[in-house]
Amino acid sequence: VPDNVTLPEFVLQNAELYSDKVAFVEAATGKACTYAQVTRDTKRFSKALGSLGLRKGHVVVVILPNVAEYAIVALGIMGAGGVFSGANPSAHASEIKKQVEAADAKLIVTDASTSKKVQSLELPVIVLGEERIEGTIHWGELLEAAERASVNFTKQAVQQTDLCALPFSSGTTGLSKGVMLTHRNLVANLCSSLFSVGPELIGQVTTLGLIPFFHIYGLTGICCATLRNKGKVVAMGRYELRAFLNALIDHEVTFAPIVPPIILGLVKDPIVDEFDLGKLKLRSIMTAAAPLAPEILNEFQKKFPGVDVQEAYGMTEHSCITLTHGDPTKGHGIAKKHSVGFILPNLEVKFIDPDTSRSLPKNTPGEICVRSQCVMLALRDTNYLSVTGYYKNEYETAQTIDENGWLHTGDIGYIDDDGDVFVVDRIKELIKYKGFQVAPAELEGILLSHPSVEDAAVLGLPDEEAGEIPAACVVMSPDAKETEKEIMNYVASNVASYKRVRVLQFVDTIPKSPSGKIMRRLIKEKMVENMKTNLKAG
Ligand code: ATP
Ligand code: MG
Repeated sequence: VPDNVTLPEFVLQNAELYSDKVAFVEAATGKACTYAQVTRDTKRFSKALGSLGLRKGHVVVVILPNVAEYAIVALGIMGAGGVFSGANPSAHASEIKKQVEAADAKLIVTDASTSKKVQSLELPVIVLGEERIEGTIHWGELLEAAERASVNFTKQAVQQTDLCALPFSSGTTGLSKGVMLTHRNLVANLCSSLFSVGPELIGQVTTLGLIPFFHIYGLTGICCATLRNKGKVVAMGRYELRAFLNALIDHEVTFAPIVPPIILGLVKDPIVDEFDLGKLKLRSIMTAAAPLAPEILNEFQKKFPGVDVQEAYGMTEHSCITLTHGDPTKGHGIAKKHSVGFILPNLEVKFIDPDTSRSLPKNTPGEICVRSQCVMLALRDTNYLSVTGYYKNEYETAQTIDENGWLHTGDIGYIDDDGDVFVVDRIKELIKYKGFQVAPAELEGILLSHPSVEDAAVLGLPDEEAGEIPAACVVMSPDAKETEKEIMNYVASNVASYKRVRVLQFVDTIPKSPSGKIMRRLIKEKMVENMKTNLKAG
């Protein structure tokens, strides 16, 4: 890992050799920016931020969909010594307010349509796009002023150990937490995750930019990784299956980092049959962020035989990827199908008993722990007592990073004799049925293997006798004839009796987060409420 470069310097290294090449193009509008523009405007924006009074360590909250200028905004903030914190533009104004306040933001960057949501926050707001909005700073004018050097500006020295990003975790298991990442964290993650990309792929890959760039998967795994390798990102604002397939075909996408719910759609949705899949230039997909059911992966490979599937495992606290498959065209260590991959270079991984913290042998499921330069900043230096891995959250940091620097992921997995790692599920989501542990992901996989089941979520419901019982919400295909009982029997015929689904409801949709995770807490609350009203109704 080079120790003298900041993240923007690292990802834009050699960009001048690719000046005319398109770095980002918006699938919907065709709006594009070249490497020359990215480099120039990133510098201009850094300068402009300095002129607005941004100082080292100041947080800027960015509330944008995946637009062509996204990387310029993020890298410009980092280049100025600021800290980029992406927020979901679809979030409610009150949720955005919470993030802006939790991050102690000094400035906001957004677009015209979202600017209304931040009006009341009394912070300077920079607005992208042509439109001029009263009381806000116009992006284009700001950059032009910076270019004319008509701004008063002193460049701040940025070190690799400085903070550069404050992404928020997805909030799947509780309140989402601000994760403090340094330039070094992200540079180290890119060095590890890009190790298998050979020189023949530099400048050659067209990546789909569908995963939100405010999430670590989009920021590191798509924006930074593609810029580092001088590829092209086809940016998409929101997911819709037809638009997704059209973007793949029209823009000749070769690599699509996606999440399991999208793969589920590709496998189960009849819309896919309207398309001539022979037109796809897609060579590989990456899937991460949530478990991919083995049955769905098998179906995907049948339908898309020419597409290589790279599973990956990562988390915000680890700056993105921890485990993934190599590039099979390289012939080196290809991880087994259904595993999430092998341990990337420069990382240490161990599997422990979560109760005793003892290391476990191979093939024994335990909590996945990681130690590396990608682990969020957790300074225990006495000079920095207030600095913790999670922003202003020493309690959660102490729960997550131990005194030896190991990040406890909260996920259960195991490593096999060949060094391939399998993820079982999250500790917090395991269902405790009469002393047995049941992994929702396994039952969801079985449900999804039923031809009439379009989508499914499994979780534990409180039960007086058993502690918890496995319960399922299932979306059936429109022409399905099966009853709830029949679907429950289908699961029962495939699992040991303690794993049987004991409550099952048909629903219209399964709520999922922008990063593709089933929102089990929400479903559980609803199911518990339903049970109560049913009881009352007699
Ligand atoms: P929060 O920590 O706020 O509850 P979160 O853990 O969902 O939210 P992220 O950092 O976005 O926030 O997600 C990381 C988690 O995603 C991992 O801890 C793991 O549970 C899950 N995950 C990532 N990749 C995979 C994968 N390939 N298979 C299964 N689960 C995965
Ligand atoms: Mg987490």
